[in-house]
Amino acid sequence: MNNIVVVKFGGSSLANAEQFRKVKNIILSDERRRYIVPSAPGKRHSKDYKITDLFYLCHAHVQQHISFDGVFEIIEERYKEIVRELDISLDIGGYLKEIKNKIAEGATPDYTASRGEYLNGLILANFLNVDFVDAAEVILFDKYGYFDSESTKKAISEKLNSIERAVIPGFYGAMPDGNIKTFSRGGSDITGSIIARDVEAKLYENWTDVSGFLMADPRIVENPKPIEEITYKELRELAYMGATVLHEEAIFPAREGCIPINIKNTNAPEDKGTIIINDDEGKNQMGTITGIAGRKDFTVIAVEKAFMNAEIGFGRRLLSILEAYGVSFENMPSGIDTMSVVIADSQLDNKLDKILEEIKRQCNPDTIQVIPNMALIATVGRGMARSIGISEKIFTSLARNNVNIRMIDQGSSEMNIIIGIEASDFERAINSIYNAFV
Ligand code: ASP
Repeated sequence: MNNIVVVKFGGSSLANAEQFRKVKNIILSDERRRYIVPSAPGKRHSKDYKITDLFYLCHAHVQQHISFDGVFEIIEERYKEIVRELDISLDIGGYLKEIKNKIAEGATPDYTASRGEYLNGLILANFLNVDFVDAAEVILFDKYGYFDSESTKKAISEKLNSIERAVIPGFYGAMPDGNIKTFSRGGSDITGSIIARDVEAKLYENWTDVSGFLMADPRIVENPKPIEEITYKELRELAYMGATVLHEEAIFPAREGCIPINIKNTNAPEDKGTIIINDDEGKNQMGTITGIAGRKDFTVIAVEKAFMNAEIGFGRRLLSILEAYGVSFENMPSGIDTMSVVIADSQLDNKLDKILEEIKRQCNPDTIQVIPNMALIATVGRGMARSIGISEKIFTSLARNNVNIRMIDQGSSEMNIIIGIEASDFERAINSIYNAFV
């Protein structure tokens, strides 16, 4: 492993000249920070635009044969202002003109959207006085548009090995014919993670506008504690329940290369942030939890049938009905004569009645009950495994706070206890679990 740190800066970290200056200080304060991945300029305040959204809008205007001059002007002004205030000599107007022409000629949405990162990368490289490496040269996709890990690895090591410091724009790469291809939205996180893996970095720093993950949603729990250390697996569990700071797919390349990811705050660089580590590393956390996350808007379909346990194929029939309707389920707690499936409302659309009809027909249950307005809460932590008394703490605290638990599910890894409750108890339940442990 090399003594290299790959750093990625999100949109809010590069939203204006002042933010660029903070970024420069961060980079120059540690010479190991050699490869720098920027996002496009994000929002400067809550009512502001994200440059990427504006580029997509330009493309949509061209598709509808409407002039995109007005939208492009806002983009131009943002970049020109940054260049002016940083006082650098970069012909940003020339680049903008070329890009505008290409968009007008019907450039693809991927090309159009990727220009946000491209231009920000040019500015940052110039401001730092380091090399600019176009992501189209090193982040490679195959001809079907799938990320090509092998070719990328080769291109990155060939290109970056000899470069002391470089800026490589996030979010996009190129297909074999040279056409630009982007990752999904927020994909600069993925670019950073790939580069970290392929230069065998010691650390991947992901700089954003929060000091890492918090143990619970601050809109629900007042002043929740930050999470200093979390494993990839724990993060997956929490992210799936709604805690997002990092793009979901960004975990995998870093994890493959055993590279820790440090979520840091550009506006408070001295804060430790959260460090995401390998599943088998980290301090012993016996008896503690790492975080709590949850989501509302679930429906439970509960079926009951005498001697269900002896009826071969019952579960398969039930699940194949969901499959036939293209519905995925979250959990499936069951008892000896009961089986329930917990489904996100967004999955159900208008399919519920048809699914119920089909269950009655194919499974012939004694009763079938629909419980709407459910919420799921996941209490997650590697310290929960083989630690006695964790569930007792959760359930006692919920009972004390008058929360009725309708469903319980503990994974065999013992790293996660999921409970299903009424949506109206959601906030109270999260606060009571938090207070029981913190
Ligand atoms: N700028 C892109 C987006 O807004 C990618 C990123 O910020 O990571 O989705």
